[in-house]
Amino acid sequence: MPTAVFVHPHPDDEAIFTGGAMRRAADGGWRVVLVMATGGEEGTMPEWVRVDTADHRRMETAQAAAVLGVSEVHHLGLRDSGMAGSDTNRHPDSLTSSVSRAADALAEIVDRYHADALVGQDSNGIYGHPDHVAVHQITRQAAARLGTPEVLEATMDRQWLSELRADRVNRGRLDPGSWQAASLERVGVKPTADGWISESRGAPQTLLRIDLAHEWDAKQAAMAAHASQVPDAADFMGIPPGVFHRVLAHEWFLRVGSTAGSVPTAGPLEQSLGAVVVPSG
Ligand SMILES: [Zn+2]
Repeated sequence: MPTAVFVHPHPDDEAIFTGGAMRRAADGGWRVVLVMATGGEEGTMPEWVRVDTADHRRMETAQAAAVLGVSEVHHLGLRDSGMAGSDTNRHPDSLTSSVSRAADALAEIVDRYHADALVGQDSNGIYGHPDHVAVHQITRQAAARLGTPEVLEATMDRQWLSELRADRVNRGRLDPGSWQAASLERVGVKPTADGWISESRGAPQTLLRIDLAHEWDAKQAAMAAHASQVPDAADFMGIPPGVFHRVLAHEWFLRVGSTAGSVPTAGPLEQSLGAVVVPSG
C-alpha cells in the first residue's frame, strides 16, 4: 500500500486545504498519514471550551482525521507561532523558532513509513502565515534528505479567486467592500508565461487542481469537527462566508520535483487524485 504524508501547521488546515485530497487518496488505496506541526495554541477559542486549547484542538483533529480516512496522526508538538510580527513568533518552542528540530522530527516520521509522497505548502505558506511558511521549509528539507519520490504543495489559484470575486461583484451578488481585491494579492500562486509563482517568487511551477465530488461531504464533516475554529460568520483570508464554500470545493497543488533542477512529471499520488494541470498561459 503506498503511503502519502500530509503536513500541516495548525489543526483545521488539513481539512480546509487538503481534506478532499486526503479522502480521495484514502479511497484510492493510499495509506494517508497526517503530521500536525503545532497545537494551534494561538487560535481564538469560544467560551464553551473549558480545557487546554491544544488538547481540545487535538481532539478535533482526531475527529476530522477519522472522516478523512487518515490512518495515523502525528503531532510534532511545537507551539503555534501566531500571526507574523507577534511576540509568540519568538517563543522558544514556536514552530518558527524550531524549524530544524521540526524538520528532523518530520524526516523521522516520513522515513519510518518509507513515504511515497509528501504534501506540504507553497513557499509563501498559501497566505503568508509564518507557520505555513515553516511547513513549506520542513517538508522540502525532509523530502530532500530522504529523496521522497513525489512532492506536492498545497496552494490556491489567485487568478481563479480573482475571477470568482469579479463575477460575484458584476452580478450584484457581492458587495466589493466585503471582499477586498487587495486581500488576494498575497494568496496562493499567480500565472506567468513559464508557470505559476507565489509571492515569495522562486522558479515557476506546474499548478494542479482537483474538483471535489463525493469527497465534499467528508470535507464538510472534517471542517465541522473543528467546531472551535469555524464560526458561521467569520471570513477566511478575507473571503466572505457566502463565497467560501465555492472555493472549498476545489483544492490546488504545485507539482514539485524531488531532485533540484529536474522537470517533474505526474507522480502516482497526483494520478490517483485525478488532478488536472491548470494552464498558466
Ligand atoms: Zn494555519
